[in-house]
Amino acid sequence: MAIATINPATGETLKTFEPLNDSEIAAKLDLAGRAFEQYRQTNFQKRSHWLEAAAEILEQEKADFAKLMTLEMGKPFKAAVSEVEKCAVVCRYYAEHAANFLADVAVDTDANHSFVRYQPLGAILAVMPWNFPFWQVFRFAAPALMAGNVGLLKHASNVPQCALAIEDIFQRAGFPQGVFQTLLIGAGKVADLMADDRVKAATLTGSEPAGASLAAAAGKQLKKTVLELGGSDPFIVLASADLEAAVVTATTARMLNNGQSCIAAKRFIVAEAIADKFEKLLLEKFEALKVGDPMEADTDLGPLATPGILEDLDQQVQTAVKSGGKVLTGGQPLANRSGNFYPPTIIIDIPPDTPIAQEEFFGPVALLFRVPDLDAAIKLANATPFGLGASAWTTNDQERDRLVEEIEAGAVFINGMVKSDPRLPFGGIKRSGYGRELSIQGIHEFVNVKTVWVK
Ligand code: NDP
Repeated sequence: MAIATINPATGETLKTFEPLNDSEIAAKLDLAGRAFEQYRQTNFQKRSHWLEAAAEILEQEKADFAKLMTLEMGKPFKAAVSEVEKCAVVCRYYAEHAANFLADVAVDTDANHSFVRYQPLGAILAVMPWNFPFWQVFRFAAPALMAGNVGLLKHASNVPQCALAIEDIFQRAGFPQGVFQTLLIGAGKVADLMADDRVKAATLTGSEPAGASLAAAAGKQLKKTVLELGGSDPFIVLASADLEAAVVTATTARMLNNGQSCIAAKRFIVAEAIADKFEKLLLEKFEALKVGDPMEADTDLGPLATPGILEDLDQQVQTAVKSGGKVLTGGQPLANRSGNFYPPTIIIDIPPDTPIAQEEFFGPVALLFRVPDLDAAIKLANATPFGLGASAWTTNDQERDRLVEEIEAGAVFINGMVKSDPRLPFGGIKRSGYGRELSIQGIHEFVNVKTVWVK
């Protein structure tokens, strides 16, 4: 894929970039290596100060950064502003807590003195997606840099200006040169980077094939990876649920980021007793959404990020229909305008065991399933190769406890929408990936957990 800014709302190519050549890449890796040797000596106070400065810049220039995101990948501008604000929050969170998270931990053993010490690893490669072009990067960078690592960003090829803006933020914040660098390169260069001694580990957020490919390259070199891949999150509504609240959240949870979020609710699993009402209310909400120019303040749903995403989604919808699904609303790309627009879509009656029901729909398409009871709801929720998040709605304590215990996912939210929060770990099981980001668990992923034993 060319490295370029192509406005998804119009299809217009606004700017293209030459990928780095091999000697430019080598120079950046050298710089990262040299920067690490100095940077690892800095104390937490200094690193916190720089990260706080990055948060300041984010807050002060949030409208500019938001505009850049909307321009490159089409998310509604108001959501882009919130994303920048959240990046400032994660910077401040780790600026405040990293020293505690990484403090020596004393352990009683047969030694006079034994403890655990957390030390940085070196240059960590972050292969990042376009869907949250700022958040995904800051979620990685804030803990990685506080731990004393240096960052190398290979961002998605359709958000190069976001990638360069992020590098610039860290530089202006005062981090020493080379502590955070953007590499404008295609995906084809990632395996070479993993084979390079100067790269110590990697994290990837994106599709299953990209994750598997990075993990294979890293595995060959015995290097650690964290993978945050797709999801087909269930949104379970049981008969006792607050239906109005569930429908409002269901709509937000499906439409977040124009439907292109790994933790978006994708499969709506509804108890038969309330299914007619849920379906009717959801349809009303979907049909009330305003699709349009993502720069405009009252737009709920902008375009999909690329023509390829649009094409894939439409293919999936057509397959769902061929497999027995019935479209309640939407179901075709919006033909009356340029750009990658797809309308809010609801599909019912898909046989749960058909292959398409197992896939991730990365766009504004809700699959609605009816189940007789809690057992069937849990069974269907787990009938997916993914295991990222799950949202379940009930006011019954026993039902709640069973959902918490039996849902196979990295996160279960009861009576709320699945979301990331710097204070809580984030990540998946099954084909949604492994490892955790955020919270104390996130900062412990890219460190040497050194055992120290002294007699
Ligand atoms: P990709 O997974 O292809 O892209 C994500 C990142 O991985 C990009 O930086 C991309 O670079 C890079 N990449 C792609 N292939 C490889 C590879 N073989 N080795 C190393 N890095 C690679 O996502 P797409 O944009 O193609 O989206 C396709 C699907 O992926 C979506 O429909 C969705 O299902 C899933 N996805 C999930 C996301 C999540 O949040 N979990 C985010 C984005 C996508 P480049 O852009 O240069 O190709």
